Amino acid sequence: MKPILAEILAIGDELLIGQTLDTNSHWISGELDKAGIKTVRRTTVGDTEVEILTAFAEAEKRADIILITGGLGPTSDDLTKPCLAKYFNCEIKIHEEALAEVTEFFKSRGRELTETNRQQAALPVCCEKITNAIGTAPGMWFERNKKVFVSMPGVPHEMKRMMQETVIPKLRKTFALPAILHRIIRTAGIGESFLADKIAGWEKALPPTMKLAFLPGLGEVKLRLTAYGNSREQLYRETDEHIEQLRSLIGNFIYAFEDVELEQVIGQQLRERKLTLAIAESCTGGYLSHLITTIPGSSDYFMGSMIPYAYDIKMRQLGVKPETLERYGAVSEPTIIEMANIVRAKFNTDIGVATSGIAGPGGATPEKPVGTVWIAYSDKHQTVTRKLQLSKDRILNIKLASVAVLNLIRLSMPK
Ligand code: AMP
Ligand code: MG
Repeated sequence: MKPILAEILAIGDELLIGQTLDTNSHWISGELDKAGIKTVRRTTVGDTEVEILTAFAEAEKRADIILITGGLGPTSDDLTKPCLAKYFNCEIKIHEEALAEVTEFFKSRGRELTETNRQQAALPVCCEKITNAIGTAPGMWFERNKKVFVSMPGVPHEMKRMMQETVIPKLRKTFALPAILHRIIRTAGIGESFLADKIAGWEKALPPTMKLAFLPGLGEVKLRLTAYGNSREQLYRETDEHIEQLRSLIGNFIYAFEDVELEQVIGQQLRERKLTLAIAESCTGGYLSHLITTIPGSSDYFMGSMIPYAYDIKMRQLGVKPETLERYGAVSEPTIIEMANIVRAKFNTDIGVATSGIAGPGGATPEKPVGTVWIAYSDKHQTVTRKLQLSKDRILNIKLASVAVLNLIRLSMPK
């Protein structure tokens, strides 16, 4: 099935000078995607005739559907309507039904209809009027050579209402739209390029109706597999097969098949397994506990944390042995092992985890450069440690180390 392509044109000088954020294009893209229409480009143009006409012509070459917002106000700076009349080579005349609607709009608000407002009911004669249920500027629908141009007001709530009530239903009638399905596969603990290498053969074998995207985030990579076809049910079955193959290639790195965060997945696993968690976090300064406690109901499994930031507190309050600290230092494997074990014992939990590292920019030594972080996991069966070599950026190091611990909990907790 041939994909139906759309281009979105946002018109208005306010968008180009950074005064107004183009939220319309973002929202429209999402609605088109749900309807099975592929947006191939989003363009922003100012209120200038030549720019608008050029944008129309270019968009028509690329797309089947051109959705335009903005430039429909009654004032002289708004040029979309005259430009459309010129582009489609037809005159602008008062549209009787549109006039009745705009008259009623002003009457219901007890206001007089001025000539400027009356002109809002003037439309190019070659278009179909789209009623604006909550504003004064009607929308316009043009069709020529199997291409559709739709013009809508820039005011977001007026545009949204028009899209939902008229434009999307009419597009569904005009075009045979395929189903689009996006499948999400979330991975952690492997970098984007390593992941790409591991699944290169699999990706190559995907049918032309499926496309893979890599969306790297902090300490994780989200994969999105997009498929086009006749029905969502069929696409589910087809993508399931490919995802199953992917699971056998990188199963250990996958933590979810939906758009959920790692802390949520871990929370659910801990709850299901009736396991409890305590944290001793030094270099992450509470960020790891923050992530864990963003999940509602985390009190079911998260007992608490300690932030033994200072050397002295690691020793006296947490209870790391002075000999360990003196001999190996705070950022070391023996220290991190003690931290995880002690916090587990002190808080009487099934699992204890710990972080200690050099977040930067200061505090580095030749053997321990900025970004050196030790993390540990401990339960009654095992203690697992990892040495991470992260970045030069303090905040990034805090976040990356926290995500690494979450992933370590996921991989190490009893099944
Ligand atoms: P217009 O149809 O050009 O008269 O636009 C009316 C108002 O809608 C503008 O003053 C903006 O505040 C808003 N607007 C226009 N275009 C956009 C857009 N792409 N995204 C969000 N708001 C917009
Ligand atoms: Mg404008």
